[in-house]
Amino acid sequence: MSEIPIKDVTPVNIHEKYDGVAAKQHAGKLYVRAISGFFQKLRTFSLWGLILGYFITPWINLEGHQAVWFDLPTRQFHIWGITFWPQDFILLAWLLIIAAFGLFTITTLAGRVWCGYTCPQTAWTLIFMWVEEKIEGTRNQRIKLDKAPMSASKISKKLAKHSIWLIISLLTGLAFVGYFYPIRDLAPDLLSFSIESSWAIFWLLFFTLATYGNAGWLREQVCTHMCPYARFQAVMFDEDTLIVSYDEKRGERGSGRGTRKKNIDPVKENIGDCIDCNICVQVCPVGIDIRDGLQYQCIGCALCIDACDSVMDKMNYEKGLIRYTNEHALKGNEVHILRPKLIGYASVLIIMFSVFGYTVFNRTPLELDVMRDRGALYTNTSDGRVQNSYQIKIMNMSQEPHDFTIKLAGLEKGELVGKKHINLKNGEVGSLPLSIKASAWELKTSRTDVQFTVTRDDGLEVSKESRFIGPAGG
Ligand code: SF4
Ligand code: SF4
Repeated sequence: MSEIPIKDVTPVNIHEKYDGVAAKQHAGKLYVRAISGFFQKLRTFSLWGLILGYFITPWINLEGHQAVWFDLPTRQFHIWGITFWPQDFILLAWLLIIAAFGLFTITTLAGRVWCGYTCPQTAWTLIFMWVEEKIEGTRNQRIKLDKAPMSASKISKKLAKHSIWLIISLLTGLAFVGYFYPIRDLAPDLLSFSIESSWAIFWLLFFTLATYGNAGWLREQVCTHMCPYARFQAVMFDEDTLIVSYDEKRGERGSGRGTRKKNIDPVKENIGDCIDCNICVQVCPVGIDIRDGLQYQCIGCALCIDACDSVMDKMNYEKGLIRYTNEHALKGNEVHILRPKLIGYASVLIIMFSVFGYTVFNRTPLELDVMRDRGALYTNTSDGRVQNSYQIKIMNMSQEPHDFTIKLAGLEKGELVGKKHINLKNGEVGSLPLSIKASAWELKTSRTDVQFTVTRDDGLEVSKESRFIGPAGG
């Protein structure tokens, strides 16, 4: 019976392991080394794009209001020209399911690209680390600063860093609340401490502290211990999924990794291409050693690729000792880009997206509600007829104002009494108290089905059934 090879990947503080940084002083703290390279540029481009998009979006107006505005008091969600009403919330749930399937599909294809290139936690950590580097210096300078006794210079640097972090957090919180509250009124309302904005103050403080805590202090702990996606991503991975991998065959060739002089040919000397410089470990934002194999903490940021490529360049070795590849390619097997699992996810995604798009763009932007007065079955009028009362509710769910007219059907000689026309602004809900009067002797049964039809000025119609109740036997 063949034995299964076992590799000990017991979690250690990698940075302590390689730097000898005293565990007592720096337990759990990572000192991430800055690196430049192709993937860092790509990340900077995508993450800054998303950050700017996040801050700018609430300021963009479309059709007279914020283009993206989750207006909770009126329960209308405006998203780039489409308004979702409470009755459309099923569509929003649908949208979340589509987003989840999108994530499954992209993860099966390209691993954790979401984490490395688009996740808000990664984006805000990037800003915070950039501020830290600008104020406290490089990785070695930061380690030295933390080890140094308290001094005026140390206090001023820490104070400056935390103040800027808090300002960024506050701006992040303001932008977040601006998706739910008219952003142009937000600052004046907050400064006036008006009652209506008390919830805004709560969420502003909550998001300010959450951003400061997550991006400033917790950082990789959020990805490793708090994010559920890190835990279940393995289900979506297969041997053809694109992952950041260390080429063990090449790196550990012959007598394995180790330091050497620059111009030594590792193939001739039968040694691995890895010079054991540990730069790939120092740049890793989650503090793992990719040479230990694929680990769930890896966010697929590819910074270790940039780091190792720069080392390979200096050594005049071929780049790609750490690279984007997959298990099959590493084993020399055939790679299957299109595979059943991926086709399955992608097909479900396309179907769901098509159904969602069709439903959204074919919704009737008009809602009619008819409520019969339950206080009385019917009343007898002075002219000898029977009367039923109704409350008619019309919702103009379109983006423009319209005129609406109510008609009655189902009761041949029934008369609709009350105001039968109404003009409603976009997004407005109008109520019309109406009555139906009919001669008792014309009623064939005590309950007659009637139909209310509302017609918009451009001909769009919506109908609703109700009942007219009269004396038994007519
Ligand atoms: S191992 Fe490499 S890709 Fe994974 S998180 Fe660390 S630096 Fe990023
Ligand atoms: S950066 Fe490359 S050469 Fe240096 S330790 Fe990592 S894998 Fe080895």
